[in-house]
Amino acid sequence: MKMIESVYQANTYIADLKNKGKTIGLVPTLGGLHSGHQLLMQKAREENDITLISIFLNPMQFRKKQFDAYPSDFEQDKRVAKATQVDMIFHPTVKEMFPFVEQIDDFFKYQENELIDRDREHFVREDKNGIDNLISVPANLVYRLDGTMHPWVFDGAATIVYKLFEVLQPHNAYFGEKDIQQLAILTNMAASYFPDITVIGVPTLRDADQLAFSSRNVLLSAEQRQSALSVYHALQHGEKLIREGESDTHIVLNAMKEIIKAQPLVQIDYIDIVEKGSLQSSKQIKGDTILYAAFFVKGIRLTDTLIVDL
Ligand code: AMP
Repeated sequence: MKMIESVYQANTYIADLKNKGKTIGLVPTLGGLHSGHQLLMQKAREENDITLISIFLNPMQFRKKQFDAYPSDFEQDKRVAKATQVDMIFHPTVKEMFPFVEQIDDFFKYQENELIDRDREHFVREDKNGIDNLISVPANLVYRLDGTMHPWVFDGAATIVYKLFEVLQPHNAYFGEKDIQQLAILTNMAASYFPDITVIGVPTLRDADQLAFSSRNVLLSAEQRQSALSVYHALQHGEKLIREGESDTHIVLNAMKEIIKAQPLVQIDYIDIVEKGSLQSSKQIKGDTILYAAFFVKGIRLTDTLIVDL
């Protein structure tokens, strides 16, 4: 397994693969690799000659406190990647990806300005705030679900994935349905700037107790983990009500909230029921639907997503 830190070296490596006619599958990650990431890597391996992963804790996607506290262990990540037969880990420094940003704290200042003007329908790419190729996600994709609370998270994800696509030029790129809004945004971003790259969504992998794998799960005590599971139980209950014919969004949402509120360790950050295609909520549930929750367990932020294909 090869390890590459510089864009220059990556360019050489990719040019060689392209010359040999190899197909490339890419799995971008923030590190803290777990079985959910491995599922994406396995899918990439099945569908491409070469599997690349990137491990880059992108400061654009975090507030400072969460960035500093993110649980990742590069040595462990290397072992996981190797066991999954990954061909190359791209593990750049912040300087390598953002050469014009002077210090890490500059990223967090940008997040204070959450209500920037943005185009309604189109992605915009510009050099701004010292960031080259900063991607602004259109309003009609970013002001959905909890993106309304922190649209800059998705500008950050779109910007880093734009840069990774430029450097690594994959044929296919794999992302989890667990981060359903991110998947929708990156699918559209690729269609706008990289029509030759196919973005592929992969269903959420859950642990034996059904908690969705997440890098932050290692921070949970047994009791906190049990509480976190109540959110999945609430989503499952919502699905059951919908499948039994309940179509009033308000009723289903309230039933889900009641289950979560019974758990003193869980605070809901955001919970919603939206249409699968538009990610917009409506009073009546009809057609394929997404149940989504972002929540805190003792300050640890987790999310869960349940897709109800009707
Ligand atoms: P992250 O490092 O958290 O950004 O995750 C990297 C990729 O793995 C993203 O596309 C996530 O949506 C995906 N992912 C995270 N958790 C899971 C999971 N439990 N099952 C499947 N994919 C996941």
